[in-house]
This record gives sequence, structure tokens and C-alpha cells, in this order.
Amino acid sequence: MIEFRHVSKQYGRGSSALTDIDLTIGKGELAFLSGPSGAGKSTLLKMIAVMERPTSGTVSVNGQDVGRLNASGLPYLRRNLGLIFQQQSLLNDRSVLSNVMLPLLVIGTAGAEAEKRARAALDKVGLLDKATSDPMALSGGEQQRVSIARAIVNRPQIILADEPTANLDRASARKVMDALKAFHGVGVTCVIATHDDNILASASRIVYLEHGRLVDGPSSDSLQGAA
Ligand code: ADP
Ligand code: ADP
Repeated sequence: MIEFRHVSKQYGRGSSALTDIDLTIGKGELAFLSGPSGAGKSTLLKMIAVMERPTSGTVSVNGQDVGRLNASGLPYLRRNLGLIFQQQSLLNDRSVLSNVMLPLLVIGTAGAEAEKRARAALDKVGLLDKATSDPMALSGGEQQRVSIARAIVNRPQIILADEPTANLDRASARKVMDALKAFHGVGVTCVIATHDDNILASASRIVYLEHGRLVDGPSSDSLQGAA
């Protein structure tokens, strides 16, 4: 379902952020991307969502070479993706419920239907009781779960999350991960970048990156660096 073939990425004239990545993530898989800061985890996720394009090689999603999608093809791809990225923070001028309804309203879903589905999404992350709250009034972990609700309200086939538990205490991090795992449980493909050892300890598949290359596991260097 997600396939990288000989993918390299260079930003501007800088050094290579990713080098010759070959990777397949199957439908319904829960895969974790790990590796030290700067290893290329975000870049890899961004290429799946075409927030960045490969310098060479191909990234395909459901058999489609997404690096070649033009502006008119992108919305269709993105509709199938639930994105949980730091940049996409919640809007503070509207309620939690309005934030989660937004992706549906953008694609033309009627208000009543959008509200029903947004409430269902909030229920799935355990935050239905916060529907009318101001996002700023929530804890970091709750805000992250609202972001998850917003990402899945379209029923995407794929969820991409970049460090979804960054800056969260352990209990909040677990709730965020439980919410993501529940979607994996209903068949959604999940790719999650993290260097949270508590999460990685129970991971079924970990893809390690170091200096933009796939490696079999963390080197002793990077383990010391992370400590
Ligand atoms: P990670 O997510 O593992 O921390 P990134 O994918 O963010 O790694 O970064 C990989 C490399 O690419 C780093 O050297 C980083 O400085 C560089 N990089 C990331 N984004 C950009 C950008 N927009 N412009 C230039 N260099 C970038
Ligand atoms: P229904 O057709 O009864 O709404 P589905 O058979 O589509 O439900 O899915 C079963 C359960 O999993 C429902 O609770 C549904 O909302 C949830 N679900 C299925 N796929 C997704 C997805 N991609 N994102 C979020 N929730 C999903």
C-alpha cells in the first residue's frame, strides 16, 4: 500500500536528508519510524503526504506514484490520509467540535452530518465531553487526541503521525497511543514517527533511520546520543 523505491531527498543544496530508501508498508500495518533527531523521519512521512517530493526514486500509495501528482490530484490522495503533524495545530478561535468538523465541511459534508461524525470521532478518542470546550483549555494530551479525532473524521485508510507523544507525560502518551492503536485495530494503516522508548518497547514493526538511511537497528552511537 505504501512503497518507497530508491527514494532520495535533498533539500536545496544541503546534504541528503534521505538516501536510497526501499520500504514497503502493507495495508493495515502499524509501523513505527525511529532514529535520532535529524535522521529523516519527518521527511519520510512528508513524502507519503506529498508535503515534500523525492529528489529521485518513487513513492507510491495504493499503486499510484504520488511524487508525480499534480495540484488537482493531491486533494484526492489527502482525503485518504489522516495527518497528525505538529504544524497542523488546532484553531483557537473555535470549539473542539468545530475543529473536528472542519475537514468534513471543507469537502462539502452537510453541517448536521459533519457534527454527527465529529461527535463520533471525539467519542472514539474519549473526548466527547470536551466538544464545546476551547482547545486552549485542554491539556497537551487532550489537544493531541483532538488532533487525532480531526485526522480520522474523514475515515482515512492511512494515518501518518509525526512524534504524536512529544512533550506528553507518560499517562497522556499512553492514551494518545491507545487512540491510534484503536484505529489500527479497525484496519487503518498507521505510520508513526517516534523516539519514545516506551512506545517502541511494544512495537511490532520498527523502521530505523540513521543519517537518512535505513538501518537494521539503533547503533550504539545513537543509543548514547538518545540517553
Ligand atoms: P527527523 O524527523 O528524523 O528529525 P527530518 O526529516 O526533520 O528528520 O530532517 C532530516 C534532515 O533534513 C535534517 O538534516 C534536517 O535538518 C533536514 N531538513 C528537514 N527539513 C528541511 C527543510 N525544509 N529544509 C532544509 N533542510 C531540511
Ligand atoms: P459503520 O459502517 O457501522 O459506520 P465501519 O464498518 O465503517 O462502521 O467501521 C467499524 C468501526 O470502525 C466503526 O466504529 C467505524 O466508525 C470505525 N472505522 C472504520 N474505519 C475507520 C477509519 N478509517 N477511521 C476511523 N474510524 C473507522
